[in-house]
Amino acid sequence: MTSLFSHSLFASNRTVAVLWDSGESDARFYTYSLVHRKLEVLLNHYGLMAEYFDVNDDGFKKSLVNPAKFYGLVTWFSDDETKNVKEVRGAYRDWFESKKKVLTLGQMGIFYDEKQETYDLKDINNTLKLVGLEYEDHQYETPLGLKIQINTSRENIEFERSFKFEVPAVKVFKSIDPKNEILVNIEDIINNKISPVVLRNEQLFMVHAGLDLFFNPLLRYTQWRVNPFMLMEWLVGDTNQPQPDTTTINGKRIYYGHVDGDAYINISDIDRTSISGKILLDQILEKYKLPTTISFVIAEIDLKLMGKTNYLETAKEIASKDYVELASHTYFHPLSWAVNPSQHDIDAYLDDPSKYKGGPILAYKPKDNKLLYEREIKSSLDYINQKIAPKGKESKLLLWSGSCEPPYEALQVIKKYGFLNMNGGDSRFDKDFPSYSHLLPLYRQVGDLIQYYSSNTNEIPYTSNWTGPFSGFSKVIETFENTESPRRMKPINIYYHFYSAEKRSSLNALDAVYKWVANQDVFPVFTSYYPPIIDGFRKSSIVKTGDFSYLLKDYGKLKTFRIDNLNFNPDYEKSKNIIGHRLINNSLYVFLGPAEQAELFLTKKKVRSIYLRWADYSFTKFDLSKDSLAVAGKSLMNKQINLYVGDLKIEDHNDIESVSYADGFATILFKSKSIDLTIRFKK
Ligand SMILES: [Zn+2]
Repeated sequence: MTSLFSHSLFASNRTVAVLWDSGESDARFYTYSLVHRKLEVLLNHYGLMAEYFDVNDDGFKKSLVNPAKFYGLVTWFSDDETKNVKEVRGAYRDWFESKKKVLTLGQMGIFYDEKQETYDLKDINNTLKLVGLEYEDHQYETPLGLKIQINTSRENIEFERSFKFEVPAVKVFKSIDPKNEILVNIEDIINNKISPVVLRNEQLFMVHAGLDLFFNPLLRYTQWRVNPFMLMEWLVGDTNQPQPDTTTINGKRIYYGHVDGDAYINISDIDRTSISGKILLDQILEKYKLPTTISFVIAEIDLKLMGKTNYLETAKEIASKDYVELASHTYFHPLSWAVNPSQHDIDAYLDDPSKYKGGPILAYKPKDNKLLYEREIKSSLDYINQKIAPKGKESKLLLWSGSCEPPYEALQVIKKYGFLNMNGGDSRFDKDFPSYSHLLPLYRQVGDLIQYYSSNTNEIPYTSNWTGPFSGFSKVIETFENTESPRRMKPINIYYHFYSAEKRSSLNALDAVYKWVANQDVFPVFTSYYPPIIDGFRKSSIVKTGDFSYLLKDYGKLKTFRIDNLNFNPDYEKSKNIIGHRLINNSLYVFLGPAEQAELFLTKKKVRSIYLRWADYSFTKFDLSKDSLAVAGKSLMNKQINLYVGDLKIEDHNDIESVSYADGFATILFKSKSIDLTIRFKK
């Protein structure tokens, strides 16, 4: 059990400081760091956010990561050379002295600078002894003769990958505090020595390099060795803590779908006559009517550029469907979002990088050959709203193109006009990438602005960059399944381009994906609904007010909190603005009503009062009394809600189509997707 004190700390500060090293290979931005690519998704799952500090920056000072400012410290370096190594050691020392939690994976970054000049064993050990460790100034050089000694469950240390013959060579430490819990030792059989490599105490969780991730160099996937959920549970410390949840609304898993405008005008192989946009509309969108957000690249539609009347007419036809939300996929489709592209972008986006003569890299070349963020963002959305959208439908959503690495200036344009943005991230978890380590976090932070990642990757990575097999996208269903059970990590997000309507096999794959989703118990939203949920995650405040009570505030559109402790139920008599709960996997999902703050009281008692188990509606009113429920709300698709009513019955009402009862629950089917009525309960 943790103290009340640490709860209030968590409530006021959900951000961990992360040290990363831009001097490591390929680590151009923090978004290439191991923490961002492998661990931040898990931090998010446990309600935590990450703020990154580059130790390779000349300006790095330990005071930047002052423990008073953060919930905890996380480090994960891939080599043991660190510029500013003295400051890094100093940062660890401050943290160890603060008694707050430090999670370190891989190399600790406290040993050498890049010239190996500042190696200072005394200073290293003065730092480590604060957490009961000593470095023995020695390293096992060869894995031969090494043996792994596991003192914990296999699930904890061979989470996605068993060790077999893969014992890593490691730095040799000595545990000097009997309170240290050593989960894994590496034993040097030849020299009869032993070194702890996975070790925890109240303050430190250390996972040595080689025990963190398995890298498959041939197939380029990674898998967790140490169980990252164990790391997170240690870091958060208490399973009663309600975590802001971005996967669920009113008891159902969120679904949203979005289409990048690429290939909209390409003639489809299906009939060799129609553009892919028309094929997608006729064969998928109209067939399933699942809410989907459709974007266009305006240069392809604008009659002054590449546009043709039938491109514009089809776009308008798509836009007229009530299950379609509109978005922009830019004007000229920037491939690099930099006005002066980096060598990385030149190599990535030009067929012949040697012929590059300067200037921006866009898929379509504007006359002035300029990358103008106002034009790509504001003008493209203006075009959508003025020329394509039917009356009453306004789009504010920009789906990033190309590198999906918008700089601060591009995000400023989004902010200036109150627009929303999405793309980037590329999460997947399937047979080819069989690991939680290929799931990305919710967002990328650029200064004080946010790029919202999509929840899944699209058909391009699933089809080997559109070289085939073109049926590859059906594998995204594996990702949907793996991110639902045993833990709900992500909503369902069908994300693709019009390319999918170009070929018979890709269209079949897309059809299979839509069919699968149509059979799931989901809460469909339009894509523009999702970034505000991420904002709710970032801003929500969770204040512990008593042993089993929490004040929840500033959550905005995020209306679900998760508790990983099944001993509790909401106490509806005491709680405020808590409208329901549902058990999913091994967690309790609690849903909030329309009010701007909520008080959650937990109880071990069985619930006897009326509550919501699930609903297809999001509510603008949910006023429950002993014998009635005044409720108003809207649904995009289905028309049911499920209430616990015990032995009560629902009175007939004009707006109610039918009611069925099972095990104390009433399922009400309404006549309309928009409701505003008072439901009365009777004996
Ligand atoms: Zn694109």
